[in-house]
Amino acid sequence: MTNFDTDLLIVGGGPGGLATALHARRLGLSVIVAEQREGPIDKACGEGLMPGGLAELASLGVDPVGMPFHGIAYVSECHRAEARFRGGAGRGVRRTTLHAALAARAKEQDTEWIQTRVTTIEQDAHSVTAAGVRAKWLVGADGLHSTVRRAVGITATAGKPRRYGVRRHFKVPAWSEFVEVHWSRWGEAYVTPVEPDLVGVAILSRGRPDLAWFPWLVRQLGTAEHGPARGCGPLRQVVSRRVAGRVLLVGDAAGYEDALTGEGISLAVKQAGALVNAIADDAPASYEAAWHRITRNYRLLTRALVLASAPRPLRRAIVPAGQLLPSAFRLGVNALAG
Ligand SMILES: Cc1cc2nc3c(=O)[nH]c(=O)nc-3n(C[C@H](O)[C@H](O)[C@H](O)COP(=O)(O)OP(=O)(O)OC[C@H]3O[C@@H](n4cnc5c(N)ncnc54)[C@H](O)[C@@H]3O)c2cc1C
Repeated sequence: MTNFDTDLLIVGGGPGGLATALHARRLGLSVIVAEQREGPIDKACGEGLMPGGLAELASLGVDPVGMPFHGIAYVSECHRAEARFRGGAGRGVRRTTLHAALAARAKEQDTEWIQTRVTTIEQDAHSVTAAGVRAKWLVGADGLHSTVRRAVGITATAGKPRRYGVRRHFKVPAWSEFVEVHWSRWGEAYVTPVEPDLVGVAILSRGRPDLAWFPWLVRQLGTAEHGPARGCGPLRQVVSRRVAGRVLLVGDAAGYEDALTGEGISLAVKQAGALVNAIADDAPASYEAAWHRITRNYRLLTRALVLASAPRPLRRAIVPAGQLLPSAFRLGVNALAG
């Protein structure tokens, strides 16, 4: 039986899903996106697009407005380490702005959109069906706690340490040309300029986050008006595989380490390209190796940093070490920026 409603049904219209849609349309595949929420979609996110991810988005015709940043700074009460990007600037972009830009481009490229929550999936050797749509392939782009993943029997475990993220916007002019990561004993707060008079502050920690952990930041933010808090977690999701028959996972659904090095969106966009190539070649299994290659630096460096910063004495040494060894710090930052 060959009558399909679409080549590709993508579950989840976040950055991973919409980048997959754009890659697929570029190769002439028909696409339906099933998203449960109405746009523009917001999410707990540090909102920093790394230079590599920004370039990938530009190649898909997506150029969202935001605030440029030129590197990463690690900050503690007495120390500051800075590393500039070698290959151009990154950009702080509000999630709602990014979503609107991606969705507009996907619409321009004739991507169909249905608003629904996918709960079940059926597949056979030739097709896969969900939300009443019969497709040749289905992509699970439905985030950290993916329903698609569960529905097709791919196991995921929440890894340790269990960390959570909460983000809030503050109405205050950006004060740095870097994304600043402020380190305290209990967590990290990273500050991303997203509009000329707006910064996002995302706190990552094991427990309930508190801005008071970062006295310098409290002083800097003063009594600035702020928006609501958005949170998610646990962040680390160890996923056993990314392909089950005609179903493939992309973005956070495919596995996630931690937000500390802030490149989930860039990775999702890169994975999307590899996934669509695998489908176009009718070789879905090849995506597994591509995913491992694309995420290798992120998995190794982010995991190493999260583990190294768990014991208190080592944690205290992170920012001074970055200041003392600027070349090593620059190397690490640029390994993740591309
Ligand atoms: C605190 C924090 C800070 C971060 N900071 C950064 C950063 O600075 N830079 C960066 O690049 N990344 C950052 N990340 C990571 C980034 O947010 C994610 O990697 C990125 O959002 C992944 O995109 P995605 O499309 O895979 O998933 P999501 O953005 O989660 O999108 C999934 C979509 O699927 C939809 N959906 C879910 N279930 C269903 C269903 N059953 N049916 C239909 N639709 C469904 C959801 O509504 C959602 O729209 C951060 C993450 C956190 C938690």
